[in-house]
Amino acid sequence: MTIDGLPPLREVIATHGLSARKALGQNFLLDLNLTAKIARVPGDLSGADVLEVGPGPGGLTRGLLAEGARKVLAIEKDARCLPALQEIQQAYPGRLEVISGDALEVDPLGHLQGPIHVAANLPYNVGTELLIRWLTPAQWPPFWAGLTLMFQREVAERIVAGPGDKAYGRLAILAGWKTKARIAMTLAPEAFTPPPKVHSAVVHLIPRPEPLFPANPDILEQVVAKAFNQRRKMLRASLKGLVPDVEDALREAGLAPTERAERVEIEGFAALARAVEARRKA
Ligand code: SAM
Repeated sequence: MTIDGLPPLREVIATHGLSARKALGQNFLLDLNLTAKIARVPGDLSGADVLEVGPGPGGLTRGLLAEGARKVLAIEKDARCLPALQEIQQAYPGRLEVISGDALEVDPLGHLQGPIHVAANLPYNVGTELLIRWLTPAQWPPFWAGLTLMFQREVAERIVAGPGDKAYGRLAILAGWKTKARIAMTLAPEAFTPPPKVHSAVVHLIPRPEPLFPANPDILEQVVAKAFNQRRKMLRASLKGLVPDVEDALREAGLAPTERAERVEIEGFAALARAVEARRKA
């Protein structure tokens, strides 16, 4: 038995026949000390609801509940995991709700009360798609007070990178514009069963009350996408066609036309988005 009175995760997996499925990105965390450590990344959870995506056999779920989350709402695509999650529901009466379904299709908001933290250890493609959705809602500040997300380390670095870093690009600019993002932990492949090929990292993102610098989000995204499409080219070349007088727009934004995307701060991209918007409106 373990601290929560539930069986160790290896036993849970054996009892419920949860052999890992590659198609669902199943690399499970079986060390409850480690899942407790991840559950502490968001800070005090008492008085908060947690949206957990992809609970699997429930290691992180158990960590979040043991750390005092008021309620965990867990969305899991693999119905084989439901009996294991039911056992956790019995150990924490009234505090765990499970939705069986695809997190890309389920709207969980009616089931949660603020403040809401999000925690997830997801397959890479699903995690990135959800992160972008959570960073680009219709309203800001968003519904969530924090995101605690596991990614492969290379993706985590793309989220927290700054100008001059090899990983600096669209994801870092979107995340840095809207949030304070940091890598809270890194994990070796052996932390997972089965071990993936790459290292992983937990990223913690806290929303800024408002984006760091004013800019139209769609235009900022267009500018950044075009600039990083050819990241080593000078901006006057990579941004050609964005507006007829792109060099003027760059100068107005305080950027040298010979500058390269990988060295431009978020402030510069926001100023450029404003200059582009002004020209399009004129
Ligand atoms: N949280 C568990 C842990 O840390 O051990 C499991 C992590 S495993 C990397 C990813 C989990 O996400 C699996 O349980 C998988 O079935 C689930 N999953 C994959 N795609 C999903 C989706 N679109 N919606 C909800 N769950 C999904």
